[in-house]
Amino acid sequence: MKTIDLRSDTVTRPTPAMRRAMAAAEVGDDVYGDDPTVNRLEATAAERLGFEAALFTCSGTQANLVSIMTHCARGEEYIVGQQAHTYKYEGGGAAVLGSIQPQPLDFEADGTLDLERVARAIKPADFHFARTRLLCLENTQGGKVLPLDYLKRAGEFARARKLRLHLDGARIFNAAVQLGMDVRELTAPFDSVSVCLSKGLGAPVGSMVCGGREFIGEARRWRKVCGGGMRQAGILAAAGLYALDHHVDRLADDHHNAGLLARGLRKFAAIRVDPATVQTNMVFVGIEVDLCRKLAGHLQAEGILISPGNPLRLVTHLDINRRDIGRVLKAAATFFHRQA
Ligand SMILES: *Cc1c(COP(=O)(O)O)cnc(C)c1O
Repeated sequence: MKTIDLRSDTVTRPTPAMRRAMAAAEVGDDVYGDDPTVNRLEATAAERLGFEAALFTCSGTQANLVSIMTHCARGEEYIVGQQAHTYKYEGGGAAVLGSIQPQPLDFEADGTLDLERVARAIKPADFHFARTRLLCLENTQGGKVLPLDYLKRAGEFARARKLRLHLDGARIFNAAVQLGMDVRELTAPFDSVSVCLSKGLGAPVGSMVCGGREFIGEARRWRKVCGGGMRQAGILAAAGLYALDHHVDRLADDHHNAGLLARGLRKFAAIRVDPATVQTNMVFVGIEVDLCRKLAGHLQAEGILISPGNPLRLVTHLDINRRDIGRVLKAAATFFHRQA
C-alpha cells in the first residue's frame, strides 16, 4: 500500500525521470565554478525569476541566511513576520551566525506585514538602536498568496525608506501558478528572492537565491563561510533543472487536490475547515489536539501520515494524486463515524 504523506511538501521523492537526469548530469567542482550543470541551473533560475544572477544553496534556510547576511552587517536589523520562517524556523541563524537582529512583527490575516507598522518599527539613526536595513516578506505565507498590489506597494515603500527587500519565496511558484501569472511579476519588487526546489517542485535537495550580480557574488562568499560550498553538485542541480522544467505548471494539481481535501473534510462536525481559505497546497484544520492525535494514529494504520496539531496542517504535493485524497477522506470518515 502506498504511503500518503500529508505532513509537508518536502517529503517528495525524485521521480524516475528526475533520477535519470541526475545520473546523466555533467559535473565539475562547483567551488571552482567548474560544474556546468550548477552553472546552467543558476542561469536558468536567474532568468525564470527575472534577476541578473542566482546561487544554488543546500537548503532554503541557507538561502535565507546568506541573503540576510549579504544585506545586513553585524549590528544591523531586519524586519520580519513573527511567524515567518526567516525568523521563527531557522534556529535564529541570522542572530547566531550573522550578529543581525530580527525585529519581528505580527503578520496580517492575509500574510502581509502592514507597511505602516513596518514604518513605525524602523529605528531612527541613533547609536542606541540597531540599524534597520532590510524588510523580509514571505510568499506564500501559510499557503496564502500575497496580493500583487501589496508587493508593488512594499517595493515602493522599501525604496522610499532606503530598506532592502528580501522575499522568502520558498513556494513562490505556488503563488504564481495560483494567480496564473509569470513569477517575474511577483519577484520584480524585490532585491533578492529565495526559492525552494525541494518542496512542491520535487527536487531532493536545494534552493536558489536570486538577485543582482554584485549581490550574488557577495552571497557566494557567505555561502562558503556557512559551509555551503559544494563540489560535484551538478547531480543535485540536475534535479533542480528538471523540476523547473517539468514540475512548475503541475502545482495547479496540488492546489486542486488541497481544495478537494478541504471540501471533503468540511463534512465532519468534529473539525473546522473553510475551503474558501485554501489558496494553494495547504489545508488548515481546526481540531482538538487529543482528537487529532487519535486521528493521526488511525490514519497511520491506513498508511496516511499527518503531524498532529491545532490547527492541523495538511499539505498536498507531487506524490499525492486525486485518488489518494479519496483514500484520506474515506479513512477520515471511518474515524469520525466511530467517534460519533
Ligand atoms: C521550507 C521553508 C524554508 C526553507 O526550508 P529548508 O527546509 O531549509 O529548505 C524557508 N521558508 C519557508 C516559508 C519554508 O516553508
